[in-house]
Amino acid sequence: MCSHKRCRVEEQHQDQGTATRSGEDAIAGSVKDAQIKTCPPHTGFIGGLCFTCGKNQDEEDFTGVPFGYISEGLWLSTSERDRLCGSEVKNLLRERKLVLILDLDHTLINSTRLHDISAAEMDLGIQSAASKNDPNISLFTLQGMHMLTKLRPFVRKFLEEASNMFEMYIYTMGVKAYAIEIAKLLDPANVYFDSKVISNSDCTQQHQKGLDVVPGADSLAVVLDDTEYVWQKHKENLILMERYHYFAASCRRSGQSLSELMQDERESDGALATILDVLKRIHTIFFDLGVETALSSRDVRPVIKRVRQEVLQGCKLVFSRVFPSDCRPQHQIMWKMAEQLGAVCCSEVDPSVTHVVAVHAGTEKARWAVKHKKFLLHPRWIEACNYRWHRQPEEDFPVPGLKEGKGKEKVAENAHL
Ligand SMILES: [Mg+2]
Ligand SMILES: [Zn+2]
Repeated sequence: MCSHKRCRVEEQHQDQGTATRSGEDAIAGSVKDAQIKTCPPHTGFIGGLCFTCGKNQDEEDFTGVPFGYISEGLWLSTSERDRLCGSEVKNLLRERKLVLILDLDHTLINSTRLHDISAAEMDLGIQSAASKNDPNISLFTLQGMHMLTKLRPFVRKFLEEASNMFEMYIYTMGVKAYAIEIAKLLDPANVYFDSKVISNSDCTQQHQKGLDVVPGADSLAVVLDDTEYVWQKHKENLILMERYHYFAASCRRSGQSLSELMQDERESDGALATILDVLKRIHTIFFDLGVETALSSRDVRPVIKRVRQEVLQGCKLVFSRVFPSDCRPQHQIMWKMAEQLGAVCCSEVDPSVTHVVAVHAGTEKARWAVKHKKFLLHPRWIEACNYRWHRQPEEDFPVPGLKEGKGKEKVAENAHL
């Protein structure tokens, strides 16, 4: 425990009425409070011993949740965890804060192993640039790990602004030592994360990231992650991030990397700037527009859902041969994604349809779209809207086939109307 944190815990103990702030503070309090209770049931264990009665964890019948990221070897009973969650929720709401869970790889950063550096990257001097650890280029060498890490553009500003609205956690499937090294790069002054760095050894279920290890998270957490699969139980909390691939080894399949092209996402309108705006909107709706619901019973999940549904509000989509003919279109990812973004999806055209989604311009519905001056576009448009949380310019997603063959020029001209 760092001295700064110890300080906060002591202050809190001097004034029992003071709100606890982070999960760690709350748990430090819990260890103390537990001393006036009796066992069993055991409230929790630290270092293998119950912190109330001192019995050995291995010899007791105890099912609980590990909180090793807060303190080595700490376990809490589920009832104690729930009690803490309750008080943590109150404290967060009092401070007008929600919880933000941040994945590392491909969300806030991109890392590569030294031996995976491409010849082109080598020629461009990426390794020597990283060895300077110059924060201005946000490219770093991870000492002792034989890795380079690139921070995603805008990440520092993002963390600074998000920290005013959220209690922030890092949550990665990476190993602890790696997570801690990255936390130091992202948060050199240790003001955002402190011990709130959750890594693979803290997960309670294999290959899944659970919110059970984050006090107060179910109803208050917004999760940013580029991998949907690991959040099976918490999809409603998730904002899926567009993957950040910077190094060549990270994007072998998709041609030259940003590093080889000496390019990067833009600070001003890259993924993190875009999502920061979404987070601000979620925060505003939660605290300022939800006034008809008591603060204590508010839930961030319907707010996320509502903000997502604003994206394609008013759009009515027809899909033309986008899905295999033997599938139910309602079960297809693109269909469901469009509906989550607030669009109405249907199978047949009618005058109220606004967009026809197709992969080729030659279909009957595609021709109908052109004739009736509806938007005709590629399904990638839906994906882009989903990542950007904003209706993307339709003309950026033309359907192939429009400009080929005779008589198609006219189609191309009208396609944007
Ligand atoms: Mg990731
Ligand atoms: Zn006990």
